[in-house]
Amino acid sequence: MEVFIEPIARLINEFSKLPGVGAKTAQRYAYRVVNMPESEARAFADAILGVKQKVHLCKVCGNFTDEEVCSVCRLRDRSTICVVKEPKDVVALEKLHEYKGVYHVLHGVIDPMNKVAPGDIRIRELLARIAEGGVNEVIMATNPDVEGEMTAMYIAKLLKPLGVKVTRLAHGIPVGGELEYTDEVTLSRALVERKEL
Ligand SMILES: [Zn+2]
Repeated sequence: MEVFIEPIARLINEFSKLPGVGAKTAQRYAYRVVNMPESEARAFADAILGVKQKVHLCKVCGNFTDEEVCSVCRLRDRSTICVVKEPKDVVALEKLHEYKGVYHVLHGVIDPMNKVAPGDIRIRELLARIAEGGVNEVIMATNPDVEGEMTAMYIAKLLKPLGVKVTRLAHGIPVGGELEYTDEVTLSRALVERKEL
């Protein structure tokens, strides 16, 4: 006999796909859903489907949006572009309420070990934005790990001949660390004290 009846086993299996959710937590979540009123379970399922139906990439910066062009791209200073690895890095920087420019989300970093080449991330789109003109500074805000540094240097090399100032977040973010897990004071200082590459 199986420990869990099929519908519950199926839900446990889905929850266990989430990051940081182990078998025990997945079981707890599944039983919580079993005990929910149907309206609550439906709202939960609708929220998941809503994200899949409405959220896509901003056609300018590549961040998640439910519009064609996100509000940051529409309303902010386009002369400074901050380049990050993932959408969650934008969230980390936006929490500082300090940066007034726009972003460019690469959706990855150059990583030869895992066969991620420059052509696999959104570098082409960044060059196209620069080619349109009006950009004075590009801040490389990839994580300070090997792949993040490699990506920052690679992009800096491409941009310098185009006459764009390229800067890098100052140190203070622990080497190998991630923007997402860096405290706000450190991240804020790294942004203010950025160095030209
Ligand atoms: Zn955008």
